[in-house]
Amino acid sequence: MEKEHAIQIDLCSSRKEKPRDDELEFGRTFADHMFVMDYTEGEGWHDARIVPYEPITIDPSAMIFHYGQSVFEGMKAYLTAEGNAQLFRPERNFKRMNHSNSRLCIPPIDEAFALKALKQLIALEKEWIPKAEGTSLYIRPFIISTEPFLGVAPARHYKFMIILSPVGAYYKEGINPIKIAVESEYVRTVKGGTGEAKTGGNYAASLKAQEAAEEGIAQVLWLDGVEKKYIEEVGSMNVFFKIDGKVVTPALNGSILEGVTRNSVIQLLKHWDVPVEERKLSMDEVFQAHQEGKLEEAFGAGTAAVISPIGELVWGEHRLNINSGKTGAVAKKLYDTLTGIQYGKTIDPFGWVMPVEERDLQSLKATV
Ligand SMILES: *Cc1c(COP(=O)(O)O)cnc(C)c1O
Repeated sequence: MEKEHAIQIDLCSSRKEKPRDDELEFGRTFADHMFVMDYTEGEGWHDARIVPYEPITIDPSAMIFHYGQSVFEGMKAYLTAEGNAQLFRPERNFKRMNHSNSRLCIPPIDEAFALKALKQLIALEKEWIPKAEGTSLYIRPFIISTEPFLGVAPARHYKFMIILSPVGAYYKEGINPIKIAVESEYVRTVKGGTGEAKTGGNYAASLKAQEAAEEGIAQVLWLDGVEKKYIEEVGSMNVFFKIDGKVVTPALNGSILEGVTRNSVIQLLKHWDVPVEERKLSMDEVFQAHQEGKLEEAFGAGTAAVISPIGELVWGEHRLNINSGKTGAVAKKLYDTLTGIQYGKTIDPFGWVMPVEERDLQSLKATV
């Protein structure tokens, strides 16, 4: 184990003005403080600190700019009706971060410590969690390689940071099913690549497909990178299809990112005794099911939208209308239950919610 780190704290002298809840845009405004920690070979992770949010200085030769060795995470802090801040399964995000680190040759972080630091940061920035229905504070932990060196090798210096951004409700006018195009030219990743790691490069590789998609297409449905036959994900969400009473999602195969939402959806379906299968699922099978009238629902699942119903699937010249373009009953129940748990409105039988408490702030202040 690494030595216990103390978190240094440097508070900003004046607080920024917060945007109104109805003018929040995703990822454009940031809270007053951020968490930073450095890694130096031989020393490990060190100098954990909470400091004012501000630009950082990095050498132009820093390896992140050239070879993209980086990972990130995405989760949210929610405010309950009683005014308490809470997180949703945050330990899974830090566990996944270490999984991504391993793939990108980035040294592992101490997950328990990262969680403690996050809770202290959220406790300090609680006022940045917007209050209006469906709003939340988006949390972006990330690690970049900072060593100034143009050689191709794992870097010897890194920065781990956590920044916070208040975000508006994803669905301002109720859940709206989206139109998806099956992507048959570009692939997001391949087995053996970095698909199961949350790393910026996967996103860079995904932009072209979206650019090439016809108007009105919200996201693309990614097929496997080898045969371009099997369904992998939709946009940056995991994907589920309800076929003939069973809910099917592509099995984790090394190129699919394992979502916290995906895992929660599977657990909820099992809890409700809804048959759920994790297996290979081809586009041919989905098309066939649609022809036979057995494709009952389709939806994406991820932290941002929680559940994103798919109303239409465009596959070459075929246009598959799903559930008359309406949100299906399973998608709706999943959305209501997950958001209910996240905002503390529904009981949480799984112990998924982690409260951020006053003592998290006190333990932080004690270090000033
Ligand atoms: C982050 C991400 C997801 C969703 O993960 P959640 O933990 O549910 O937010 C799905 N696919 C990709 C490619 C992702 O990057």
